[in-house]
Amino acid sequence: MTRKWFAIPLWQRVVAALALGIVTGLVWGPGAESIKIIGDIFIAFIKMLVVPLIFFSLVAGVAAIGDLRKLGSVGGRAALLFIVTGQIAVWLGLLMGTLLAPGSGLDVGSIERGAIPEPQDTGWRDMLLSIVPQSPVQVMADVNVLPLIVFAMLIGIGILMAEKDGEPVARIFDSGSIVMQKVTAVVMELTPFGVFALMAWVAGTQGSDALIALAKLVGLNYLGCLIIIFVMYSAMVKFLARLPVRDFFRGIIDAMAVAYSTASSNATLPVTLRCTQRNLGVSPSVSSFVVSLGATVNMNGTAMYLGLATLFGAQVFGVSLDWGDYFMISILATAGAIGAAGIPGAGLIMMALVFGAVGVPLETIALVAGVDRIMDMMRTVTNVSGDAAITMTVASMTGEIDRAEMISADDV
Ligand code: ASP
Repeated sequence: MTRKWFAIPLWQRVVAALALGIVTGLVWGPGAESIKIIGDIFIAFIKMLVVPLIFFSLVAGVAAIGDLRKLGSVGGRAALLFIVTGQIAVWLGLLMGTLLAPGSGLDVGSIERGAIPEPQDTGWRDMLLSIVPQSPVQVMADVNVLPLIVFAMLIGIGILMAEKDGEPVARIFDSGSIVMQKVTAVVMELTPFGVFALMAWVAGTQGSDALIALAKLVGLNYLGCLIIIFVMYSAMVKFLARLPVRDFFRGIIDAMAVAYSTASSNATLPVTLRCTQRNLGVSPSVSSFVVSLGATVNMNGTAMYLGLATLFGAQVFGVSLDWGDYFMISILATAGAIGAAGIPGAGLIMMALVFGAVGVPLETIALVAGVDRIMDMMRTVTNVSGDAAITMTVASMTGEIDRAEMISADDV
């Protein structure tokens, strides 16, 4: 029985749980509230993951840069492009979420907010000060993400500065980040149960409105990803890299296909590397550096989705957000995309980070988890195409690209 259960891919179990949860809710009606606790337990486990996952993954990511000098022209340009494209992506998500309001038809209303306190109105001085991780342990205990990110980056830089002496610590974080990915995999096994319970609860109290809202969210996720790929990346390739857009897409089609089917930037990494080197003509040193870094830190599809999903949650639960919240979301969604590992469902966990900071109930996570895989596949295509586009742009700017190789890419 258990063997059979685990033989079915997780995402298929989640989709089945979604369908079963909806049917159960529609039949059972509001009484389905009594099984909501199962969903709450699932969410509590997701919350548990946020701090260690970001901490290990970010420190390991910075340490992976290798040495501080390498950060120079290639690293600097890549980091700038990662951040700028990430910001554009989040704001696109926020714009679509505001204008097209995917969650507005659903009103789950009077749910008590999670254990996370409402953000308080503070002046810019306090805001600045709050980014400094005065007490790292406190910061972790409070799941205070911005200072946590600052702390993780500083540790990463410290590891690089310590050179040989820093290597053992770097290895600990490397292995810690792998361990945390495994722990995540264990928690994700709870997804079918959490999704079943929360969908039954939502369908029981909301009826078919729930389905319509989720369908809108999935549609907007695809639309946002397509805009990022075909507008933002095309523009980058054409105007910054000054290379033919058609050849770029022809060169990365394999990576896009693998990304869509695996929903994992990490799993796609070898294919992305091969595409950028063989089909796009990027030098091995630039491609291995930028593509590997990009696979963990550059996730524009995820950033866009985090913005969109936060608004979805706010609309469903009637949380009003102001400009300050939008800025907070834009920073945290970019940070979440950087902190997310390139594995299936990572974006889902990072929601806990963004939602918590602006007071959107974490129940939203379980609400969207049932349809997450199908959105994740498209997010991953966006993430991987972005890695390739930025790699090519940086290579073109630093003269590390073989244009003839790129144009004649059809010999693969
Ligand atoms: N699965 C995505 C990736 O690997 C991350 C996410 O969940 O958004 O790129």
